[in-house]
Amino acid sequence: MFRLKPLSDQVIVITGASSGIGLATARMAADQGAAVVLAARTEQALTKAVQEITAAEGRAVTVACDVSRREDLERVAAHAIASFGRIDTWVNNAGVGIWGRIEEVSDADMRQLFETNFWGEVLGSLVALPYLKQHGGALINMGSMASDRAIPLQGIYSASKHAVKGFTDALRMELEEEGAPVSVTLIKPGSIGTPMPQHVKNYTSSEPKFPPPVYAPEDVAKVILHAATHQVRDAFVGSSAQTVSTLAKIAPRTLDRLSERTLFKAQLGPNPPSPGDNLWNGRSAGEIRGDHQGSMIRPSLYSNSAVHAGLTTAAAGLALAGIGWLAMRRRAHGVASEISSATGLWSDTQRAASRRELAREQRRAARAISSG
Ligand code: NAP
Repeated sequence: MFRLKPLSDQVIVITGASSGIGLATARMAADQGAAVVLAARTEQALTKAVQEITAAEGRAVTVACDVSRREDLERVAAHAIASFGRIDTWVNNAGVGIWGRIEEVSDADMRQLFETNFWGEVLGSLVALPYLKQHGGALINMGSMASDRAIPLQGIYSASKHAVKGFTDALRMELEEEGAPVSVTLIKPGSIGTPMPQHVKNYTSSEPKFPPPVYAPEDVAKVILHAATHQVRDAFVGSSAQTVSTLAKIAPRTLDRLSERTLFKAQLGPNPPSPGDNLWNGRSAGEIRGDHQGSMIRPSLYSNSAVHAGLTTAAAGLALAGIGWLAMRRRAHGVASEISSATGLWSDTQRAASRRELAREQRRAARAISSG
């Protein structure tokens, strides 16, 4: 058993740090005293982020890099060592998306998405491991709710996140078996309100949007930084991700039909698409949040409860038992009623999750007020 260092003693490399989750994580880590190395393709956005961090007396450097190229990732590692002397945590976060039916997406675009989402994480892991093994450390790979459950209109993205999960799970077992002092974590967020919908390559005739509920990027950052300091196998962010993953295991056919009924509409906004995407080239504006219209749930139950593993397990166990019973009962009514029941089941579980999160927040606020 090895111990991970406190954040204030760590050097953390984060890919995809020019926008969204990666940028939120870099800022939060620097605020808590870590030295951070920000990597992505858009140099201007990286420079702006480093200026903001150093103005707040944080320690940060940037390296422009395309994660699909091993030589770029080796440059990132070398720059981290030259700047701060070691690497304690490496976060493979860079990712891109494609909105569209699988049959409409070009072969070249599909392969390019895998270059970033899959090969970027594989090569990042292989480059990071020798450094992490030297003094012990954490390797954190960005999966998704789509690592456990495919999403229509995001077929190739879902395939890449399933692949990241398979790679990460196998790597973890190999490292544990050899006794390497490296903690390997897969992060599985639900919908997060980053600029990603504005960055994806879009084959549809509408603007892309994430299906609700949408969580805050800072919630993912908190879970990532928890995994940098505690050995965590995997972590959901957002109770919707946990719910969908559970339903995918116990009622896959019901979830297929529910997804067919709801997820096409839920992922397309009312406006026409805006031009431009980041599939082949960087185009980050250095923003953590995107154009998400509507409220963000925060902080999420699961991002908090990742920090309290026992509570999470108990809550998830109870939810699983309840959902399983409901699903089995509702399955008995045949296909037609299965669809309508599934819609009810979906709404029930989503509403219940939101209510639990709200109640938790209210209790926390009341405690904060009463303790002055
Ligand atoms: P985002 O705001 O679009 O950020 C994506 C980041 O990846 C940017 O910094 C981008 O920077 C970088 N990037 C893309 N391709 C790259 C490449 N080839 N080389 C280096 N950097 C590259 O999206 P986000 O929502 O924060 O996504 C971050 C990660 O979370 C992704 O892996 C995504 O799949 C995952 N995730 C997101 C959600 C969500 O709902 N938002 C949910 C689950 C999982 P440049 O353009 O400057 O290179």
